[in-house]
Amino acid sequence: MRKTLIALTACALIVIAPSSALAWGIAAHRYIMARAIDLLPAELKPFFEHYRGELVLRVVDPDMWRNAGWDEDPNHFVDFGVPELGPYPFTALPREYGSAIEKFGMATLRRNGVLPWREAEEFGNLRRAFEGFAKNSAFAPADTVLFAAAAAHYLQDAHQPLHATNNYDGQLTQQNGVHARFETALFERFEAKLTVNPGPLAPIRNPRDVAFDTLLASHQLVDPLLKADKEAIAGKDTYDDEYFEKFFAKVRSILEKRLADSMTATASLIVGAWEQAGKPPLKIEMPRAVEKVRTPKSD
Ligand SMILES: [Zn+2]
Repeated sequence: MRKTLIALTACALIVIAPSSALAWGIAAHRYIMARAIDLLPAELKPFFEHYRGELVLRVVDPDMWRNAGWDEDPNHFVDFGVPELGPYPFTALPREYGSAIEKFGMATLRRNGVLPWREAEEFGNLRRAFEGFAKNSAFAPADTVLFAAAAAHYLQDAHQPLHATNNYDGQLTQQNGVHARFETALFERFEAKLTVNPGPLAPIRNPRDVAFDTLLASHQLVDPLLKADKEAIAGKDTYDDEYFEKFFAKVRSILEKRLADSMTATASLIVGAWEQAGKPPLKIEMPRAVEKVRTPKSD
C-alpha cells in the first residue's frame, strides 16, 4: 500500500468497514501470527500462548499507525523497479543504512521504502524487551508483546510480492487494485481451502539482510502474479466470482508459499531476538518491585 492508495482506502473503510486493503490484509496478518506462535520452541511457547490474543490483534498495529497520520508508510515496502535502484538484484541500493542515505538522500530513500531498516530497528527493540526479563524490568512482558507484533508485521509485509515492486498496485500495467485483490480479497475468499505448511524455523541473526533477501524473493513473484491477474480478467469487465476462481487457481501456490514462509520467518525472528538477548527465561508477569522511600541526601 502506498500514499496514492491511502485516500482510496480511507473511503473504502468508511463504506465497507471493517474491510481493509493494507499490507497483507488484516485477516492474513492475524492468520500468519497465530500459526507462527505454534512454531515456537518450548522455552517461548507458554509466554506467547498466554499473550496469543493480544499478539494476533497487535500484529496489524503498524498499519493502524499509518492511518493515524504518522509518517509510517515507507516502513512497509521497498519499490524495487524504480530506475535509480537498477536491475535485479538491485545492488545499487546499499544495504548499510548510512551508505544508502549518503547515496540517495533521505527523501528519495523514504519515497522508495525503508522496510529492511525498520525491520532491523524493531528486531532490536524486541531483543531489548527480552533483555528486560533478566533485568527484572516491569515492562518486559508488555514490551515483548508490542515489539514481537511490530517486528513480525514488517517481515510479513516483505513476503507479499506487491510490497517489493514499484508496480505495487498494478498501476503501471493497467491492473489497478491488484494489491487488495491478491492480499485481502483472495485470502478472505479462499482461506478455508488453503494448504499452508510452514517449514522449520531458523533463528534470524541479521534481520536487515533477511528482510532484503525476502523482498528480493518477493520481487521475483511479481510478474507471475500480475500475469495471473491479467489472464483471469481477460475478456471481462468485472472482478466477480469467476475472476477470483481463475486468479486463485493461478496464484494459489504463490499465496500458500508466501503465507507459509511468513509464518516461519515470524517465528524465526522471535527466536533470533530471544537468542541474541541471551535466552532469558520469560515470565508472564514480573514480580512487583518493593519501592523504598527516597530521601534527599543532606549535606
Ligand atoms: Zn504493513
